[in-house]
Amino acid sequence: MTVYLGVCGWPVAHSRSPAMHNAALAAAGLSGWRYLRLPLPPELFEETVRALPATGFRGVNVTIPHKQAALALADSASTAAREIGAANTLTFEPDGAIEAENTDAPGLIAALGEEWDPAGRTALVLGAGGAARAAVWALRRAGAADVAVWNRTPERARALARALGARAVETPQTAEIIVNCTSVGLAEPEATFKALPLRADSLDAGSCVVDMVYRDGGTRLLEAARTRGAGVIDGLEILVAQGAASFERWTGRTAPPQAMREAAGVIASS
Ligand code: NAP
Repeated sequence: MTVYLGVCGWPVAHSRSPAMHNAALAAAGLSGWRYLRLPLPPELFEETVRALPATGFRGVNVTIPHKQAALALADSASTAAREIGAANTLTFEPDGAIEAENTDAPGLIAALGEEWDPAGRTALVLGAGGAARAAVWALRRAGAADVAVWNRTPERARALARALGARAVETPQTAEIIVNCTSVGLAEPEATFKALPLRADSLDAGSCVVDMVYRDGGTRLLEAARTRGAGVIDGLEILVAQGAASFERWTGRTAPPQAMREAAGVIASS
């Protein structure tokens, strides 16, 4: 019998998760498993997800706009998902229970690696949505010395900072780890440095810039960071890292990073 996985979102047509996970399943020899794209409008989300386990689903990833609803419908949730207030991974247990996890947070820390281990470092998070909440939680948990949060709508930054023990700022200083968790850079790349409170010439080899946004050809933010010798982590690396954590949770197997990175488009396949 086929075991199903999938990604629920609205819209979800652009998601690279199906290609990435199906490549991972094939590389791991899990020939009876398939990962599907599941476009679900908000009004159908809960009812459909509750029906999935009976149709052979083992779990799903959850993306915009369902991450809070995913946490709310789960029977149990990890500390990360509970404290962040959102889940991107649901696992359906054999007894029918639904478990919620947030792998965006460990995904960020995994992508930073040893070179940019946040312990003792200063961090600046741009944004106050779901991705920013996961980033702030992860950086605090990993021992960052200071986590500043800036957002276009300052009261959202203040609320996030209060909830997760960070510091809201309206005119941020540069930091050793800078994480763009806004959607800036996707639709109008040329407006990146007008929309964000960063100057390209403030970036240097002493910092690492993580852009949660990813697009073909890369983002202007990462291009500027790379030009100035800063460390650079593409949003696709985060996508792969969070996907690997979800894969391991559902299958109990070690995720094959090379296959996932190639299928997600991080590196060209040979
Ligand atoms: P979200 O909850 O909708 O939050 C969007 C954030 O972007 C808010 O802080 C919003 O500020 C800000 N923003 C939007 N337009 C802006 C503009 N023109 N100028 C300045 N700020 C602006 O979204 P999310 O779930 O946190 O996701 C944020 C981004 O990360 C998305 O592009 C998403 O695709 C990406 N993401 C990537 C991964 C990955 O694996 N690479 C994982 C998760 C998310 P206001 O509060 O002022 O509206």
